Amino acid sequence: MDCFSYKDGILFCEQVSLENIANEVGTPFYCYSSSHLKERFAAYKRGFGTKKHLVCFAVKSNSNLAVLNCLGSLGAGADIVSGGELYRVLKANIPAKRVVYSGVGKTRQEMEYALSEGIAMFNVESEQEMILLSEVAKKMGKKAPISFRVNPDVDAKTHPYISTGLKKNKFGLSMERAISAYEKAMKDPWLEITGIDCHIGSQIVEMAPFLDALRRLKKLVSRLTDMGICLSYIDLGGGLGISYSKETPPQPEEYISAIVNEAAELDQTIIVEPGRSICGNAGVLVTKVLYTKENGQKRFYIVDAGMNDLGRPSLYDAYHEIRTVRQTDKDKLAEADVVGPICETGDFLARSRPLPQLEQGSLIAVMSSGAYGFTMSSNYNSRPRVPEIMVYGDRFQVVRERETWQDLVKGESIPEEGC
Ligand SMILES: *Cc1c(COP(=O)(O)O)cnc(C)c1O
Repeated sequence: MDCFSYKDGILFCEQVSLENIANEVGTPFYCYSSSHLKERFAAYKRGFGTKKHLVCFAVKSNSNLAVLNCLGSLGAGADIVSGGELYRVLKANIPAKRVVYSGVGKTRQEMEYALSEGIAMFNVESEQEMILLSEVAKKMGKKAPISFRVNPDVDAKTHPYISTGLKKNKFGLSMERAISAYEKAMKDPWLEITGIDCHIGSQIVEMAPFLDALRRLKKLVSRLTDMGICLSYIDLGGGLGISYSKETPPQPEEYISAIVNEAAELDQTIIVEPGRSICGNAGVLVTKVLYTKENGQKRFYIVDAGMNDLGRPSLYDAYHEIRTVRQTDKDKLAEADVVGPICETGDFLARSRPLPQLEQGSLIAVMSSGAYGFTMSSNYNSRPRVPEIMVYGDRFQVVRERETWQDLVKGESIPEEGC
């Protein structure tokens, strides 16, 4: 994460001091580095070289319009999982032609929207979904381009909540079921078989599961070819991990090179759907210490951001490095918990962490928060969601304003006749 580094003892994002941003917009806030986003996306492109490809950024990892627009302007497509995400993607000027639509629970209304906009492909996850999509396509008089998401049954060796490619997971169709689904789709005049798709999980830090999945997919592709089904796209999903602390995942370029190598004989366009590996280390959550206290042996730093702002520590027991915005003496560390203001014991950002002595008003940065940070945030405890800031070299812009208390009650009403 060299887009975040100390200059004269202050933590900077690119050429902008996080302290200056805090002074202007208040705390807490998310801050993203546009140069990190661009560099990570470029690394994906370099890995592909001349191989036909489409990098579809996983919008659920970070759906801010400025982030989407930044990646889209470099040629990124989008992997969406809802109509709302499609709306954002189009607003951010990513063409529908570069959009693939994943997810187990697409509604009729969402299908209609995506089909009318002309997305590249629906990644269909069940036979019932296929039947509904065909119905929608018929009604609209427009063929729906589809792939089936297959579940290759490989162990991604990641957290159980973010593993998606095992038989016991809800995602996709088993290899056998996929064959029969393709047979049915072939006979359907309103479905256009376009590709095949899988996504085996998230925060995967080794190559083996990806290559394993690709090999299984290749077998299926050749069986489909024998059945007379020719595909345009092979979609390998996302899932490449990042370094939160000591993990050493392959870099995007290595990861893609290994895939391109394994896919050498395939002439289809290869799609990948990276999220975290593009934006995870592009962002931090900056928060301020409100109070410090000690309960017996334990030291607590109570900060102004909570689990509603960054849910990963409470949800997955995820580790996020904590850095002080003002550089401190590394020799004087003491164990402490960094906790939020929410009325839940699970409301922590870091637990039992060696940290320097913090004071009321100290600023800290919760590192590696660019993916599944803001997008998973909520208004729990009626807390307005925090602003998102994008840094462009030596300037920054508020790309999503802090919510207000008025925003919190938007759309609510009290019946005239009272209670
Ligand atoms: C979540 C998801 C992704 C992105 O995963 P990352 O681990 O962030 O790369 C890609 N494709 C699908 C279908 C997903 O559900």
